[in-house]
Amino acid sequence: MVEVYCAICGTPIYTSGSVDSRKIWLNKVILLTSAHESENGIELELDLYYPRTNHPRSLWSYHLGPHPPDEAQRRVLRLDTDVDNDICEKPYFKLAGSGKKVRALSVHLACHPLPPGGTQGGPIYLPVHRHCLHIADCFIQSVDASMHTSSEEYHGKITSIRQLWEVLYRRLEGYILADQWVLQEPHDYFGGKSCRSMEWEPPNDPPYGALLEENPVEIPNITKSILQNLEPIPTGLPTGLISNVQDTDDFQWVNNLRNTGLVCDYTYSQDWWCRALIHKKMLPWLWDIDIHEIRERQQSGNWNWELLARQLSQVEIHEPHDTTLKLPLGLRNRRRIWRILEEGRVDDVAEPEGRARQEAIEEKQRYWAIMHSQIQVPTRSFPSSFPPPPPPFRGTS
Ligand SMILES: [Zn+2]
Repeated sequence: MVEVYCAICGTPIYTSGSVDSRKIWLNKVILLTSAHESENGIELELDLYYPRTNHPRSLWSYHLGPHPPDEAQRRVLRLDTDVDNDICEKPYFKLAGSGKKVRALSVHLACHPLPPGGTQGGPIYLPVHRHCLHIADCFIQSVDASMHTSSEEYHGKITSIRQLWEVLYRRLEGYILADQWVLQEPHDYFGGKSCRSMEWEPPNDPPYGALLEENPVEIPNITKSILQNLEPIPTGLPTGLISNVQDTDDFQWVNNLRNTGLVCDYTYSQDWWCRALIHKKMLPWLWDIDIHEIRERQQSGNWNWELLARQLSQVEIHEPHDTTLKLPLGLRNRRRIWRILEEGRVDDVAEPEGRARQEAIEEKQRYWAIMHSQIQVPTRSFPSSFPPPPPPFRGTS
């Protein structure tokens, strides 16, 4: 049976059959869609998306039709779904409450197939795990207010639920008959490619298959699992290193610490690093660590909090082979999903693909133009996969 995959994490959504308790999070599903206020300003109408059938640059994206709604009135909806064992016809989901059955990962048309020459738009529903949406909410909350206005660095990035929607839906192939079960992601979701086939089989891609199935939110003993990596302060450090510390209450520079060097410089005290860890803006993906547990450990000895923070800042610790730290798979999976959100950009899939397709078309047009003008060109200038050009125009005389 075909699996449908979460638009955020790239792991399947289990909507039928028995699921063991470890994997129960995989069948808790929300459908994302977008809507706008109706003209009376009271009701919400779902946004309708149209395929771009004739535009070579836009094969990856739908558009909002000839009369798009006002951007200021658009919003993202989260629709609860009922797990329905009777719906074996994936990728359909049943909306909680109304019981309406909707098709995910394509434009949901009221009438299909279309009459000849007809155009029609429909809503898009993207399935995501509840837990993955929770991680996305934590991610968005962690984005500092200054990031919205300060620099180009955040242009197109996920800084709001609206922007998350823009990133995700634009990864949907923009033609109406797409049978798509998983959205493209520029990094192929950082693992699991070999088992992300028609049938999800985790053993097909060890150890990523097992990693992707681990619950990334409810992680038992999360704080202990991190603190097991804490090392004592090395002995014999030059006294100057310890006495010249520059502690401040400013944690700004360690906000969302990423890939900092692993060599400690002891510019700040260990207490400062411990406070920065508790501050949670340093490593916002650890939003649920237990502050009391950390304080207790801090008081139990002389620990190297700086080294732990630098290790936790390495973005590739989601890799199951990474030896920087001993971490449970659930926490590695969380860091993987967090990285997917960090890297997400509007049109991140569409732009390179669209450019490549357009360049191929333009190159083919140049080829045909040259052949029509009967200028001899070396055949090796063009890919052998090009079709033979049409016969040159010879006039009527
Ligand atoms: Zn997910």
